[in-house]
Amino acid sequence: MGTDSADAVVIGAGINGMAAAARLAAGGWSVALVDGADDIGGFIATGERTLPGYRHDTYSSWHPLFVTGPVYAEFGEALLRHGLSYANTDGPLTASVADDGAVALAHRDVEETVAGFEHAEDRDAYRAMIAGFFAHAEQIGGLLGTELHSTAAWKPLFGLVRGGRPVVEGYVRDAATSGRSWMRGRFRGPETDHLWAPWLLHAGLAPDAASGGLMVPIFAATMHAAGLPVVVGGAGNFTAAWRGLLDELGVTIHTGRTVERILLRDGTAAGVAGDGWSLAANRAVIASVTPTALYGSLLPAGSVPSPVSEQAAAYRPGRAAAQLHVALSGPVPWRDARLAAVPLVHLSDGSASTGIACAEAEAGLVPRRPTVVVGQQHVLDPSRVPAGAAALWLQLQELPFAPVGDAAGALDTAQGWDEKLAAGLADRVLGRLEAQAPGLRELVLGVDVITPPDLLSRNPNALAGDPYGGSAELDQNFLWRPLAAAPKHATPVARLWHIGASTHPGPGLGGASGHLVAGTLLKPTMRSRLRR
Ligand SMILES: Cc1cc2nc3c(=O)[nH]c(=O)nc-3n(C[C@H](O)[C@H](O)[C@H](O)COP(=O)(O)OP(=O)(O)OC[C@H]3O[C@@H](n4cnc5c(N)ncnc54)[C@H](O)[C@@H]3O)c2cc1C
Repeated sequence: MGTDSADAVVIGAGINGMAAAARLAAGGWSVALVDGADDIGGFIATGERTLPGYRHDTYSSWHPLFVTGPVYAEFGEALLRHGLSYANTDGPLTASVADDGAVALAHRDVEETVAGFEHAEDRDAYRAMIAGFFAHAEQIGGLLGTELHSTAAWKPLFGLVRGGRPVVEGYVRDAATSGRSWMRGRFRGPETDHLWAPWLLHAGLAPDAASGGLMVPIFAATMHAAGLPVVVGGAGNFTAAWRGLLDELGVTIHTGRTVERILLRDGTAAGVAGDGWSLAANRAVIASVTPTALYGSLLPAGSVPSPVSEQAAAYRPGRAAAQLHVALSGPVPWRDARLAAVPLVHLSDGSASTGIACAEAEAGLVPRRPTVVVGQQHVLDPSRVPAGAAALWLQLQELPFAPVGDAAGALDTAQGWDEKLAAGLADRVLGRLEAQAPGLRELVLGVDVITPPDLLSRNPNALAGDPYGGSAELDQNFLWRPLAAAPKHATPVARLWHIGASTHPGPGLGGASGHLVAGTLLKPTMRSRLRR
């Protein structure tokens, strides 16, 4: 398999692995990037999953985190040179449709958004929410992009402290508050809750989970500022651009190679091995895996202190997810015609229905009224579908991995996620959609369902079908992600680094953990400075 050693071996070619590999290679290291799957990208791919001519983003699709993150800042220009291009919205941004048909609609423009709010005080509160985020965006961004347990976190922290005790205390309270309570305390009408409570699902949270109070303003402000960019032609063109960049930088890519062991020499990471192959790592092994895999199976037993292995064994997945792709012969016949131009719509009554659906999933039930994320990427990028046609990217983020029943009492869950249950879920979802878009079913030409076990079989990091690499509840996030006993990207094993969605700053396409670790490795050490 080409070279059998490199300065760094990166396990996992998701966004964080690609970002780490690119940054190290640009800094002069030789890098091998290894992935068990047949292609790079992890949860980034495009396929004609229903019918020829319909290009569906198989998993992730929306790139606000990427375009506002450090990887795009460093490599964006190069990726554009390698064929990446984005389509985005300047107008309608996101909307929620309640079961009674009430629509809450956000535009890129904050003023246009608040113009739709019933109460004047809510308009002011919304403006204040967005302005409040931007007043400290640099510090919040700094904390989300840095090693929290390090002196590097001091600068953004001091920036917040300069605002005085109420500012810092305010953020701590927000982090301890659920999204539902945070919005209830600030808004009289339902619009903000309807709009942004379902977005908490995209952070792996629920409306009643702590830290929603921190995340709601972050989501809203980021999206008003950055929109909802999608890759022209599909997310597969993103991985193609990455492949071009990684090749140009000389990164050796090994796909179809599952790492089974991390090799140690004198207690120091020295390489990786799989079935019949191995690769030596001269300076670092960087693993984009879950702590469950890292400390539970990839490292030899006894190589880390017992609190680390014990906490890794207790690392919790979040709720499971499913992804449905639908080919339509024409645009969705929304009852509220404004929705035809909105790239991402939630079917949700806000915290009310989304909270219940999350609780049902946590109890092992397929929810009766699941929140449906309705992606209409073709609105931004018509090249993905045949002329005049449409496609839906439907996401469900409130599912049990091992269902014990159906909250509606209609679906048979006894065999787990078999074809019948998948079809039953698809029918429920299309029924919810049809209630807001009469005649929808007549337009359906094809449906593809990716169940929670399908997610896991594609990517071992999707523990129990969790798309986000582990629960993002407060005790397993921020200062304590992935583990309270090993919260940094440096691990207890010398030269072994941990990145990916399971590590700070968590899931999404920002690529910050890979970028951060590569930056740390490239920094001149005290010893190398003295040698000069
Ligand atoms: C259906 C779905 C939709 C999503 N939508 C969005 C979205 O629109 N926007 C957004 O920002 N985020 C979205 N997310 C979340 C986002 O995709 C992930 O958080 C992100 O891709 C995780 O990146 P990562 O670098 O941690 O690696 P991953 O993408 O998880 O990839 C990890 C890679 O490591 C490989 N690997 C793991 N273990 C081994 C091993 N032992 N040996 C070899 N290879 C190994 C896997 O094969 C995989 O390719 C979505 C996720 C899912 C599942």
